[in-house]
Amino acid sequence: MTPPSVIIVGGGIAGAGLAYALAGHADVTLLERDSYLARRVPKQPVANFVEPPGTAVVRQLAAASRPFLEAPPPNFTTASIRIGCGAVTIAGEDRIEALALRLAAAREQRSDARAIDLTEAGRRFPILRPGYAAWAMLEPDSAHVNAHALHHGYLQGLRGRSGRVVTDAHVVGMRRIVGRWTVETAASGRFYADVVVNAAGASADKLAAMAGIKPLGLRAKRCLAIMLDIPLDIPPNDWPLLRDISGDLCVSADANALFISIPDIRSSASPNAAPAEEDVVAAIARLQRATTVTAGQVRHAWAGLRSFAQDQNPVVGVEHHADGFVWLAAQGGAGIKASPAISRIAAAAVLDQCFPADLAALGLRAAELSPQRLRLQQSAQPKLH
Ligand SMILES: Cc1cc2nc3c(=O)[nH]c(=O)nc-3n(C[C@H](O)[C@H](O)[C@H](O)COP(=O)(O)OP(=O)(O)OC[C@H]3O[C@@H](n4cnc5c(N)ncnc54)[C@H](O)[C@@H]3O)c2cc1C
Repeated sequence: MTPPSVIIVGGGIAGAGLAYALAGHADVTLLERDSYLARRVPKQPVANFVEPPGTAVVRQLAAASRPFLEAPPPNFTTASIRIGCGAVTIAGEDRIEALALRLAAAREQRSDARAIDLTEAGRRFPILRPGYAAWAMLEPDSAHVNAHALHHGYLQGLRGRSGRVVTDAHVVGMRRIVGRWTVETAASGRFYADVVVNAAGASADKLAAMAGIKPLGLRAKRCLAIMLDIPLDIPPNDWPLLRDISGDLCVSADANALFISIPDIRSSASPNAAPAEEDVVAAIARLQRATTVTAGQVRHAWAGLRSFAQDQNPVVGVEHHADGFVWLAAQGGAGIKASPAISRIAAAAVLDQCFPADLAALGLRAAELSPQRLRLQQSAQPKLH
């Protein structure tokens, strides 16, 4: 049987992961509007194996992805995807209960998670401001995910199995004509395929509308990331990730730089979400409350968009109102660490296969991810007149 032709719109981690999962089973073309890929993939190994906050579905997807991230296939990439350095989560007086719950949840998954005293927290993360935290927990087995290495590995695997990547391919229109999609780009011509996958990140609803499909009401939120040059002079990846349980600060240290990420700084519908200066200033003030850092040069600051469905679960599955249209969107704040499992689920949807049995055995269900569940939720909401 001839393999189906598939166009994936969006070359972020979601599109690249799916392209990798499909390569060899379908004739894959990945279209990306930017002139280079990975522009929106976080530039630091930010994704962490610590159990992500979020819904049970997101946590299951991340847990199911961990084996791939820890031991990718041979020749996947030369760089290490897993960078081991542990994670310290801290809480102020008012969040001790939340941290205790977090610790209990972490111990269910990984028995090595434990409470540590503040002296140990300060020893492991030496710039932690004394007196800032009231309690701390350590997940020694936690590690960063090198998002760039993961993205690169996916694309290398795609190209190695005859997949195509087209950059500067801004999709501006789509039509289904006699059982095939015609996909129009602004400057790179037309493409044709049996199946189109919407992996357009924060632009996923807009892309669906181009195909005449009702949007799902996805929301984009900005996550601010700052790389701060600072003379720490520590061995690379020697310190753990530091995370405040309040969820408004995440810091990792690397040689002579600190990488700070502050989620959900404000809502934004713009795909080109540059950071506002006042947000950068507020983020550095936030860092200074938690650490002894007094100065540093901002090397790079950017605001990435993370998009969410109303129930905070990703959207992965076929669209019932259009033939050959598959959603792969709303990855939220876990699109990296959950990407291996999500990619396999999306590949099964594209190839019209059953939901992966091993993921079903973990309790994951296609219905929890399908775009239809959002339409049902929308229609169940009372209308205000
Ligand atoms: C600072 C920061 C820190 C993060 N930390 C973590 C973390 O610790 N762990 C974790 O798991 N996740 C983390 N995330 C979230 C994760 O990065 C996202 O979930 C993930 O990047 C979403 O991937 P995506 O491919 O769906 O979207 P994107 O990366 O946004 O990719 C979508 C792509 O589609 C392209 N596109 C859009 N419209 C069109 C069109 N019309 N034609 C062609 N191309 C189009 C865009 O140019 C873009 O490249 C973080 C995100 C940020 C910003």
